[in-house]
Amino acid sequence: MRAMTLEAVGAALVPRERPDPEPGPGEVRLRVLACAVCRTDLHIVDGELPPVRSPLVPGHEIVGRVEALGPCEPGSAAHALAIGQRVGVPWLGHTCGHCAWCAEGRENLCDTPQFTGYHRDGGFATCVVADAHYCFSLEGIALTDVQAAPLMCAGLIAWRSLKLAGAGATLGLYGFGAAAHLIAQVARSQGRKVFAFTRPGDAPAQAHALALGAAWAGGSDQSPPEPLEAAIIFAPVGALVPAALRAVRKGGRVVCGGIHMSDIPSFPYGLLWHERQLLSVANLTRADGDEFLAWVRGHPLRVDTITYPLEAANEALRDLRAGTIQGAAVLVPG
Ligand SMILES: [Zn+2]
Ligand SMILES: [Zn+2]
Repeated sequence: MRAMTLEAVGAALVPRERPDPEPGPGEVRLRVLACAVCRTDLHIVDGELPPVRSPLVPGHEIVGRVEALGPCEPGSAAHALAIGQRVGVPWLGHTCGHCAWCAEGRENLCDTPQFTGYHRDGGFATCVVADAHYCFSLEGIALTDVQAAPLMCAGLIAWRSLKLAGAGATLGLYGFGAAAHLIAQVARSQGRKVFAFTRPGDAPAQAHALALGAAWAGGSDQSPPEPLEAAIIFAPVGALVPAALRAVRKGGRVVCGGIHMSDIPSFPYGLLWHERQLLSVANLTRADGDEFLAWVRGHPLRVDTITYPLEAANEALRDLRAGTIQGAAVLVPG
């Protein structure tokens, strides 16, 4: 197999040849068809998330075809997958199944999780081994491999964020990248009005938001034309927290959808007062994935992507960092 590996924090990924990994009990080996690039990959490469192993193959928005099943008990999840089947692999790669969080159905908060492309080697490669219990079937998803890849994190995390944002009819999205461009369409289909906030002066991102049905798009330094009932912050910028609190009405909710954010500047209590709520979203549960993919099966979804060959992973990361991508960057093995 070929893989783009992270061998030192802050350094460029290095192309390597490796033997194909063998799937262990309950695991499957996938031929990678496409792997989207997430901001979390940038946080890992840049060391904003503490390194957990080295070398590491990043990538946790994988679409692949099952090519080998590991040994497993009859009736287990690996047996439920068939050779040749197209599946998706998300960030949640494994959970312990017995800690207090797992026991109460909050596996996204598992005490000893394994995340794809972080604790486990991920999809910036021609093949990957995944725990079959955490793969999603993509049967009935009328999207290409490239289009389906960003669903596995941008789509899933945004889905969970939208759930936590509540049922508000007016929704602000701060940072209009891969996640926002997908969830704006879900929100529109639910009859909500979407207000998109981008970096000040980012006309292409604002045009992208309007093209996807946003009622208004402007800079994050601007006030929306009407008070918001909820806001989701996807950009990893702590200063957006007081900005979003300022934009939501009494009782409104601000959800931080990212895994990392720069420090939040201090702000007057008045911004939180009147029962405004501030919360974060961590990871996903498999139930989130099942719900979101069920929605995708029943609704049209436009997925905007820019593709890069696997070997151009560093260029994809560079462009994501620069904020020049409308939609999602997706690596495609040649
Ligand atoms: Zn657990
Ligand atoms: Zn991600």
